[in-house]
Amino acid sequence: MPVCPTRCSYCSFVSYSTPKLISLIPDYVSRLCRDLERTASVIRRKGLRVRTVYIGGGTPTILSESLLSKLLDTVASCIDFSSLEEYTLESGRPDTVTYEKLKIARDHGVDRVSINPQTLSDELLSEIGRYHTTDQFYSAFDTARKIGFKSINSDVIAGLPGDNFYNFSKTFDKLTELAPENLTVHTFCVKRSSSLNGQEEKVFSRDGGDTGKCLDYSQLRAYVESYYPYYMYRQKNTVGNYENVGWTKPGHEGYYNIYMMEEIHSIYAVGAGAVTKLVDQSRRGEAAGFGHNSDRIGEPPIKRLFMPKYPYEYLDCDEGSEQYERFFSQLMN
Ligand code: SF4
Repeated sequence: MPVCPTRCSYCSFVSYSTPKLISLIPDYVSRLCRDLERTASVIRRKGLRVRTVYIGGGTPTILSESLLSKLLDTVASCIDFSSLEEYTLESGRPDTVTYEKLKIARDHGVDRVSINPQTLSDELLSEIGRYHTTDQFYSAFDTARKIGFKSINSDVIAGLPGDNFYNFSKTFDKLTELAPENLTVHTFCVKRSSSLNGQEEKVFSRDGGDTGKCLDYSQLRAYVESYYPYYMYRQKNTVGNYENVGWTKPGHEGYYNIYMMEEIHSIYAVGAGAVTKLVDQSRRGEAAGFGHNSDRIGEPPIKRLFMPKYPYEYLDCDEGSEQYERFFSQLMN
């Protein structure tokens, strides 16, 4: 769902907040539902079992209650939940979360939500363009708790411009008091498509400043609070060249994150900017980075298929057109 209430200054995802695009959301959801049905039929014809469903963004909870119901009804009608291990709805922006929306999600089988403060400093939230308050985060988190999801994830970012060790450690302390089952600690980075691109020297010091200390603190505090690290990845252009770490309480590991990182499961993705990863199951070892099959050099064990990147392109790609049909025939192979 490539739409958010406002665009965070560091955002590098395909996500928009313009009124024109927001007005296209109903058409977008209708198209998404049709693509979902068609993709699910491919999954069934291939005899595959779905292990996780992940609705990400952007901010899926920007949808109205009726559109969220429509989307989740479609998921429920075309995907066999009997093999499902996890069903996540990103609810990253607390300013889009309501009791009714989370209740709809829970009633449709969602068992994991992601509610992200990034920082618990109101001043910093406004500086990074998030324009929600810490109170909104606490309220959304409390609502999710009352509704009773199996796991709540919360993201924080170390090394935000203007942040320091004192602020970060306070944020982390308050978050661990709430005890989300998953805590994802990102290191701030400036990507090409973010509005901070080109201002790196102004917004952060390459040596990382306090960031290493913040990450050390998050690690110590997370261990003390009985979290353990279960996945890690690195991006380019992070402050101090540090990494991103997913922490979890035992038994609450986010399976989708593991499957994405390991690259040994196929991922079927729909929507603008969605990237499908088809893993050749006879070459799972190679897909995970172990050795290679000398007979098949030049033929990667993972095939990636891209849906049109931008929402307008996605809506403009007519169903039945050559491009559209080519996509689905490649999906079937
Ligand atoms: S909430 Fe996430 S996807 Fe949306 S603008 Fe901010 S960083 Fe980007």
